Amino acid sequence: MASSANAGIDSTSANAKCLRPKPAPLYASTGLDVWTLMNQVAASVNAVNLGQGFMSFPPKDFIKRAAQEALADDTHHQYAPARGRPGLLEQLGTRFSEKFGRPIDPSSEISVHAGANEALLSAFTAFLEHGKGEEVILIEPAFDQYTPNVIMAGGKPVYVPLRICTDKDPSKEVISSNAWKLDINELKSAISDKTRILVLNTPHNPVGKVFTRKELQEIGAVAQQHNLLVISDEVYEHLTYGAAHVSIATLPGMWERTITVGSAGKLFGVTGWRVGWAIGPAEL
Ligand code: PMP
Repeated sequence: MASSANAGIDSTSANAKCLRPKPAPLYASTGLDVWTLMNQVAASVNAVNLGQGFMSFPPKDFIKRAAQEALADDTHHQYAPARGRPGLLEQLGTRFSEKFGRPIDPSSEISVHAGANEALLSAFTAFLEHGKGEEVILIEPAFDQYTPNVIMAGGKPVYVPLRICTDKDPSKEVISSNAWKLDINELKSAISDKTRILVLNTPHNPVGKVFTRKELQEIGAVAQQHNLLVISDEVYEHLTYGAAHVSIATLPGMWERTITVGSAGKLFGVTGWRVGWAIGPAEL
């Protein structure tokens, strides 16, 4: 009896040595992101790292002063409302009401997040149902976080390429970022009865393309025809180098189906702060 009991204990502890908690397959499948990978590789060979999105200049004094003043204010250190602090929501409401040419209600049409990335993940999570194979159109090349965010939210990424359309030879000459075009028929053919979301990114990371009003109208028409939610990642809205930045949410019929995502990290050159927002109609 004693020896078989011991054998039981031994085998349990042997098992305990082998068994380890494992992440859910959905999460494990997303792997290491490009950002982490490139930072490690660049550091290991002491290379100049162009892949990490850091600003190469310090933040302006006014923004650092604002952070210092906020820290010195004792009312700022307790739980904030889940949707964001009222003062920030109000400021965002004023700025985006002006930009969008419509009154935006800060208490129901804006939410503040831990960076644009969390705003994106929250939007995917809110609009995708697990286990249904719901599809999300991503325009490639694309910011690398979209794919794992979609997968973790239970969706399936479907890629549509931007293609270089120019008479120039890109291997010999510098081409404009606007030489990258989305073929609208290619977009249409990627849509199935499972497509729920189209992700737009303008200005575009990594190619820098600023989508024109006409391009956005065409994309918007497809979204309306197929009842898609558009998640419009506009974190680089000011990096247009002279081109007009158009938010797709401002086009006719698009406010109702668009969540626009922004980032204070990009806006003020303080990427480590991780303050972002999502803007859309209260029903969404
Ligand atoms: N969208 C794009 C296109 C980005 O390039 C980045 C950051 N590199 C983000 C979203 C994430 O922004 P945040 O740092 O505010 O989470």
